[in-house]
Amino acid sequence: MAIKNVTVAGSGVLGSQIAYQTAYKGFKVVVYDINEDAINKAKDRIKALRHMYKHDIAATDADFEAGLSRISYTWDLAEAVKNADLVIEAIPERPDIKKDFYTKIAKLAPKDAIFTSNSSTLVPSMFMEDTGRPAQFLNMHFANQVWLNNTAEIMGSPKTDPDIYKEIVEFARNIGMIPIQLKKEQPGYILNSLLIPLLSAGEGLWVKGVADPQMIDKTWMAATGAPMGPFAILDVVGIRTAYNITLAQAKNDKDPNAQVLADKLKELLDEGKLGMEAGEGFYHYPNPAYKDPNFLKI
Ligand code: NAD
Repeated sequence: MAIKNVTVAGSGVLGSQIAYQTAYKGFKVVVYDINEDAINKAKDRIKALRHMYKHDIAATDADFEAGLSRISYTWDLAEAVKNADLVIEAIPERPDIKKDFYTKIAKLAPKDAIFTSNSSTLVPSMFMEDTGRPAQFLNMHFANQVWLNNTAEIMGSPKTDPDIYKEIVEFARNIGMIPIQLKKEQPGYILNSLLIPLLSAGEGLWVKGVADPQMIDKTWMAATGAPMGPFAILDVVGIRTAYNITLAQAKNDKDPNAQVLADKLKELLDEGKLGMEAGEGFYHYPNPAYKDPNFLKI
């Protein structure tokens, strides 16, 4: 089956980006959210992408408008999925909400429609039976700023049909993504399975007083040729997110190092150093020290 009509359910941070990118690449997209207020917010979010598409990937106004013209909006679920070849789910990361959503669309979407989930942490076998079509259900996980960070991690459950998997790999390519293909379920996919231990290790060295953030980043960059070290990446993720994760670890694991790290991150937050978006975190922006050609000359 050729995918033509795509429904994106949940039009928050990621859903609005996925919907626009899909429309930008020529597909007809229906955006679904729970009520009129959420839909109005989605329209504003999508319109606000114009600047990024122009600035980051040199889209013209005409290109951007053409993308917008392929999107329609609704808060009626039956209407949203009735003609869908593919439903991309990007609703909150709560199993109860996702379960309820899949149980509903199982009855409302065409029998041969494929469903994918953008879940960051939940694997497809958790919901495959709720979808009423386990062979046509898998995860396709996008990264924030989909037009720039264009990976789509594709992960099936043991029941996903290999032909459907291939079709989604092809679809991901068609919307400008690099399809990262996982052979089995893995919480955190490939990217976060690599990235989170790296960030935690960097934080651990800092907390133990082994080296300061810049020396840790310099080591990683000089030794591996990477353009950024763990603390530069933490600035992109945002210090608030790093703090929230560390605080939860400190509470759950009662790990004294996690509490020391949480306190250090809290100091940054209190000083307004929230990361790249705020203009300062571990580095100053827009011209952080690690981009200076002399950064690695120690
Ligand atoms: P968000 O909170 O920004 O948006 C969620 C949207 O879903 C909201 O518009 C909300 O109104 C809507 N919603 C709530 N209940 C719903 C329902 N029953 N049916 C339809 N819509 C409903 O969340 P987000 O950050 O866009 O995350 C959405 C999904 O994408 C999550 O599974 C998350 O793990 C994943 N994700 C997020 C990021 C990120 O950087 N934010 C990156 C990759 C993946």
